Amino acid sequence: MIIEQAEVVVTSPDRNFVTLRLTTEDGLVGLGDATLNGRELAVVAYLREHVVPLLIGRDAHRIEDTWQFLYRSAYWRRGPVTMAAIAAVDVALWDLKAQAAGMPLYQLLGGASRTGLLAYGHASGRDLPELFDSIRDHLDQGYQAIRVQTGVPGLTAIYGIASNSTGVRYDHEPAQRGARPAEEDWDTRAYLRHLPAVFDAVRNEFGPELPLLHDAHHRLTPIQAARLGKALEPYDLFWLEDATPAENQQALRLVRQHTTTPLAIGEIFNTIWDYQELIREQLIDYVRSAVTHTGGITHLRKILDFAAQYQIKSGIHGPTDISPVGMAAALHLGLAIHNFGIQEYMKHGTRTNQVFHQTFTFTDGHLHPGDHPGLGVTLNTDHAGTYPYEQAYLPYNRLTDGTIHDW
Ligand SMILES: [Mg+2]
Repeated sequence: MIIEQAEVVVTSPDRNFVTLRLTTEDGLVGLGDATLNGRELAVVAYLREHVVPLLIGRDAHRIEDTWQFLYRSAYWRRGPVTMAAIAAVDVALWDLKAQAAGMPLYQLLGGASRTGLLAYGHASGRDLPELFDSIRDHLDQGYQAIRVQTGVPGLTAIYGIASNSTGVRYDHEPAQRGARPAEEDWDTRAYLRHLPAVFDAVRNEFGPELPLLHDAHHRLTPIQAARLGKALEPYDLFWLEDATPAENQQALRLVRQHTTTPLAIGEIFNTIWDYQELIREQLIDYVRSAVTHTGGITHLRKILDFAAQYQIKSGIHGPTDISPVGMAAALHLGLAIHNFGIQEYMKHGTRTNQVFHQTFTFTDGHLHPGDHPGLGVTLNTDHAGTYPYEQAYLPYNRLTDGTIHDW
């Protein structure tokens, strides 16, 4: 199974996606997601200039060897660009191996550990009536677990709120097309005062059973995060996500001392080293890394196996900037591992689903990767070619006095 061709496909149907497409001498095609939201072309260049020439002529069966070769031979290790590029190669090789075996990928990873993956959707609203409508809409779609994000009085543009500007609601897509990033505003004290009352209202309206999640998006100091976790304890959250900026692992020690609200972190991490203290000292409950940004299935599996020894579970990142290829990889991995927790799932738009033909299913709030050989995703390159790359940036944040803050 020798790799004959390696192409990097950039397409922007509803948003930008970067896909690595490997073709073997016997005609199998494997796909890997290399999308790094807002910095897509850096990974394109890394792949095209430095990785693709190394892949031609390699044995596609040697997944571990190829991973170690790309990680160690570059000398410059880790980082989102490097690890997204390695992830794309890794997932494409797993796709090829599973197709060659005539099996869905989860079978090669050990087979199914469950019948389906509990998924959570993103409900949001600028105020309570809008939020309640959004939660009801997600329940109608079948979701059985829901992330709750809300506007804060006095702030105009906040992370996680779906757009209603055209009269048609669509889930929050933070990366906006254009030459400059959008500016949002933030006031931590106003947020901390407002949020517990929102969860109180949601619990009163929807009852005690519905799993509820919340994302603080890296904006709090350790003591603020501790206070929020404590304030939300009566509302029994499934998790509080990204309470503090993630690169300071020690910050979570202080948060943990003060609250029993479960903690999830890691969507901007890219190696096992970012989790070393968090997992060994049991400072978190869920690993949030995406297959796409963490060196692929090979590396994320190692992180999750390490986490399993400490009863820490998966909560794989799955917003719309994870392409259908990256989502399929997450679903195969999630179905196979023992310590699955929950899967984030935002639905892709119509144009995206025309470019990427997917075979996974969403039934009664649970995802399943399907039983097609490989990942079960194909890329329509003709369709992809009709949507060229469009510059887009994630927003950034300023406090009310103009200071740049974590977004
Ligand atoms: Mg998040």
